[in-house]
Amino acid sequence: MDLNGKVAIITGSTRGIGNAIANRLAEAGAMIVVKGVSDAIRVENAAEAIRSTGRDCIGVLADVGTADGVHKLFDTAVQKYGKIDILVNNAGIIRDHGIMRMSEEDWDSVIRVNLKSVFLCSKAALKYMLKQRSGRIISISSIVGIYGNAGQSNYSASKAGIIAFTRTLSKEVGARGITVDAIAPGFIDTNMTRQLEEKWIEYLKSRTSLGFLGMPEDIAEAVVFLASDKAGYITGNILGINGGMGGI
Ligand code: NAD
Repeated sequence: MDLNGKVAIITGSTRGIGNAIANRLAEAGAMIVVKGVSDAIRVENAAEAIRSTGRDCIGVLADVGTADGVHKLFDTAVQKYGKIDILVNNAGIIRDHGIMRMSEEDWDSVIRVNLKSVFLCSKAALKYMLKQRSGRIISISSIVGIYGNAGQSNYSASKAGIIAFTRTLSKEVGARGITVDAIAPGFIDTNMTRQLEEKWIEYLKSRTSLGFLGMPEDIAEAVVFLASDKAGYITGNILGINGGMGGI
């Protein structure tokens, strides 16, 4: 897949799935903007790791759940590279509780970081993509946004929101040559899932056809394809990558 000359922003890319996506897009030739929210050193290390492979990359520290953070991210990226071709909305958090123990803050923070960020970043990217009449927006939803999962009403709602947003936006911008898709991963081995109890992990594996959890690279490969010219007729789609998990 050839992404030479393309500029990609990947939110939440200092570790986990986002980091694998940034690395694979860079390998495919794209110039990369990685970003994280809390730790400048981690952002710089992630950017340096990509630069050390000979690819062009900058790191930006910004909160994508706020308009100010998103402006900072896009201003920095466009100042450096002059355009945005690919946006990967990957940043996400969990604040799991059953409904009676879920605070308003648990609800608001998850909706803000997981869903509002997708609106803010997509709108910021479209400012450039609409003018150039091309672009790729790929957002990371989740299998729980389709089936739900006990203890995750906030997270599931945010991920279901991404699905509806993706389908709607694809209809709004398709005529301008911009595709908008989402990936709904099953359970992937990252910091997020390492917090789960071992017996729950075993249960989740048993719910897949393949019998094991996915790796960040399994998601990254699909993003590279969706970001490429080869995926030009795919839009408004939700791609499940879940080892055959048909429900939770
Ligand atoms: P992770 O916790 O390892 O990484 C999340 C990243 O998001 C981190 O780099 C973090 O710094 C960043 N982030 C958090 N809040 C942010 C903010 N306000 N602004 C900018 N960046 C912020 O998690 P992961 O497992 O790699 O998850 C990546 C995405 O994939 C998330 O959207 C997650 O919901 C989704 N997902 C993960 C799984 C899984 O099983 N791991 C399954 C389905 C979907």
